[in-house]
Amino acid sequence: MNRVALLTIGDELLEGRTVDRNAATLARAFTDAGGVVIATESVGDDVTRIADSVRRLAAAASTVVLTGGLGPTPDDLTRAALAAAADCALVSDAAMEAAIEVLTRGHAPARNRLQAQRPAHARWLDNPVGSAPGLALEIGAATVYALPGVPREVAAMLPSVLDEWQARTSARPRARRTLSVIGVREADLVDRLGPLLARGVTPEVSVTVHSGVITVTVRGTGADERAAAIRAALGDDCFADDDTTLAGTVVLALRVRRATVAVAESLTGGMLASLFVDVAGASDVFAGGIVAYHDAFKTSLLDVPASILAQHTAVSEAAVRAMASGARQRFGADFALATSGAAGPEPDGPAAPGTGWIACAGPDGASTRALNMPGDRALVRRRFALAALDLLRRQLLADTP
Ligand code: ATP
Ligand code: MG
Repeated sequence: MNRVALLTIGDELLEGRTVDRNAATLARAFTDAGGVVIATESVGDDVTRIADSVRRLAAAASTVVLTGGLGPTPDDLTRAALAAAADCALVSDAAMEAAIEVLTRGHAPARNRLQAQRPAHARWLDNPVGSAPGLALEIGAATVYALPGVPREVAAMLPSVLDEWQARTSARPRARRTLSVIGVREADLVDRLGPLLARGVTPEVSVTVHSGVITVTVRGTGADERAAAIRAALGDDCFADDDTTLAGTVVLALRVRRATVAVAESLTGGMLASLFVDVAGASDVFAGGIVAYHDAFKTSLLDVPASILAQHTAVSEAAVRAMASGARQRFGADFALATSGAAGPEPDGPAAPGTGWIACAGPDGASTRALNMPGDRALVRRRFALAALDLLRRQLLADTP
C-alpha cells in the first residue's frame, strides 16, 4: 500500500550532465512520510521507454512519482508517454489553454499550447512556481504523479502531493532525528556509542560523514529517546539535533551573547565568510572578512608583522594568531577567526598539502589549532573552514557561565 517508485526523466540524467537531485528529494520526502521507496529509475527522452517504465513501476508500486519532460520543448514527451501507458488519448484541455493564454497575455507561442495537452484520464496538479503544471492519473491500481523536472518546482509541488498521498494511504510519518557531530573520527564515534548504534532493531541508526561532519540519523519508534541518549554520550561534540548547520549553530551562539565575529582568510579564500553569510540573519553577528592571500596583504590589511612572516612563514601558528588578532582589531569585532595552510596539491613552502593552522581570537586572547586534513583542494578548504567554525563554537561553549 505504501510502496512508492520514482522515475526521473531526461537524457541529461543518463549522460551524467545533470545530477539527479529530484530522486533524492522525493526519496527522502516519501521515506520520512512513511512510504517505502522500492525503486528509483532514470530513463531518457523516449516515449516508448518512458511508457514502458511507467507501466512496469505502476505494476510494482501503489504510487509512482515521476519528474521531467512536461515542458514545451520537443524532448518533453512525458504527456504522450503517460497517455500510452494509460492506454488513453492525449487530449487538449480547453480550460488549460485559456489559462496559458491569460498567463502569457495572449502571446503564447504554439509550443506552449502543447502544455495544455493531457492524457484523457489525467487531472492537473497546480504548479505555483512554473508554467508547466503537473499531472496525476490512475494506471492499473497505481496512482501516477508527474511533476516538472526543475528541482525548485518539484520542491514547491511536493507538499500538496504528499498531503494527497497521505490521505490516500495508511502511511504515518516516520519519526526521524538527525544529530550533527564534529571533531570526532568516525571509528572513535562507533567506539564511544557502542550499543547505541545497534543495527537491525527499531529505531534504526545510520552514520554518514561529509567533510569531517558526521551525521547520525535515528529513525522509527523511539527515535527521540535514542537520539537524546546519543546526544548525551557525545556531549559538546554534537552541535545540532535538528538540521541546523555548523555555521547556523555558531551564529545562534553569538547572537545569544550579542557578540560579533570577523574572519581573516588565506587558505579558505572566502569560504568561511560564505558559510556565515549562508545563514539567514547572519548580519546580526557577522561583521565581515578579509581574504589576504599574498603575504604583503596579511601585513597591510591585517597588521601581521612582516618579521613574523619572514621568520615563521605565513603557514605558522604565529602568523595565524596575528591574522586573527588583526581582523578582530580592524573590524572591532568580539571574535575573529583566521585560516592559513597549504590547500594542495602542491606543498606551500615547507607546509605539506592539507596542513596548516587556524586561530580564534577573542576578548581573552587567541587559541590556535594545527590541522592536517586529508582530501583534495576543495575538501581541504572546506575542512579548514568547518574546523575554524568549530574552534569558535567550542570557545563560546567554554565561556558560557
Ligand atoms: P520545463 O518546463 O522547465 O521544460 P520539464 O518538466 O520539461 O520542465 P525538463 O525539461 O525535463 O523538465 O528539465 C528542466 C530542467 O530541470 C533542466 O535544466 C533539467 O536539467 C533539470 N532537471 C530535470 N530533471 C532533473 C533531476 N532529476 N534532477 C535535477 N535536475 C533535473
Ligand atoms: Mg523541458
